[in-house]
Amino acid sequence: MNILVINCGSSSLKYQLIDSENEKVLARGLAERIGIDGSMLTHVPAGKDKVVIGKAMPDHSEAVRLVIDALVDKEHGVIGSLSEIGAVGHRVVHGGEKFDRAVLIDGSVIRDIEELSSLAPLHNPANLIGIRACAENMAGVKQAAVFDTAFHQTMPQKAYMYGLPFEYYEKYKVRRYGFHGTSHDYVSARAAELLGKTREKLKIIVCHLGNGASISAVCEGKCVDTSMGMTPLEGLIMGTRSGDLDPAILDFISEKEGLSASEMNTVLNKRSGVLGLSDGLSSDFRDLCDAADQGNELARLTLDTYCYRVAKYIGSYAMAMQGVDVIVFTAGIGENSFGVRERICSYLGWLGAVIDPEALKKRGEDVVVSKAESRVTVMIVPTNEELSIARQTLALL
Ligand code: AMP
Repeated sequence: MNILVINCGSSSLKYQLIDSENEKVLARGLAERIGIDGSMLTHVPAGKDKVVIGKAMPDHSEAVRLVIDALVDKEHGVIGSLSEIGAVGHRVVHGGEKFDRAVLIDGSVIRDIEELSSLAPLHNPANLIGIRACAENMAGVKQAAVFDTAFHQTMPQKAYMYGLPFEYYEKYKVRRYGFHGTSHDYVSARAAELLGKTREKLKIIVCHLGNGASISAVCEGKCVDTSMGMTPLEGLIMGTRSGDLDPAILDFISEKEGLSASEMNTVLNKRSGVLGLSDGLSSDFRDLCDAADQGNELARLTLDTYCYRVAKYIGSYAMAMQGVDVIVFTAGIGENSFGVRERICSYLGWLGAVIDPEALKKRGEDVVVSKAESRVTVMIVPTNEELSIARQTLALL
């Protein structure tokens, strides 16, 4: 069966059509600038040339129509008709405490996702627009919601509570939820599979280091802690997000700079992280590593600060799980950046990690980068959230 995986943003829609039988990607693409001038669809059919279609997309429903047209097109299509799409799997960012697993979408699920929008005001409404646009254009096709937060719902209460008045948890559900759950689940399961072991017998730390970044402690198959919080702002230093900081800094800077609460929020989400720390040099680790190699001191400090934070989280999760068997690097930076992995691995000796420097240079493939005598296995495992969404959707049918 072919499963259409959709990741819908407020002005974009990413998709992959996956054949669930052989798990091959038949086509992938991106509709951009939906509702804005200059909207376009980039469609990449497997084994054929990419096509860029510049066409007005006033709303997401039109974007879904164009995606379907591209998928069934005589020249660059990959299926004969719409009836060859068996189901749609949507990435939904916030499932709150309501959803601890993927679900088939019906009216009550839509209402729940709507209610949870107060916890993810930028993401859940956009995800819902995608769900409705697919329902309009693919009547009768089953749709599933796969939540970014679901995998972390196994965290014990001591790991998800903040040191805040309890009433905020009771009234507003202010607590830690964690994100990138689909990736942490997929990568920890894949790491165990590659090692020929069952995840239920391993203590795994997954370092999902992409433009957004998070770490999780997966103890015997269950997430027991993760670095992102009520929103994706907490935890590691990221591309443009600050990660953990002293909350009193908000008041201090807003007073000094005359910024409102919402302007401060923009500073923390869009102007901080490695972009801010490097004084605007770049949020991209390729640029930062190149600059550091050429002797740029601020780029070096940025990378050192970033990696030190990751190493501290690894240490605390080894404590949380009372041990660690496997540490996995994944996502854009984790899979590709030797400079980042090398810096983080330089802290791991006390855990008994013995790194193979040649293996550590590999990129974008499943590989064990620790030596046989290492007490903890260190690996690179490319993530594949779309495949995981397709698998979870299929399992629900
Ligand atoms: P993601 O959010 O997982 O797509 O990761 C995107 C980030 O990965 C980019 O912003 C880069 O910082 C980083 N990245 C991608 N390719 C490389 C590479 N070859 N070397 C270093 N960093 C990379």
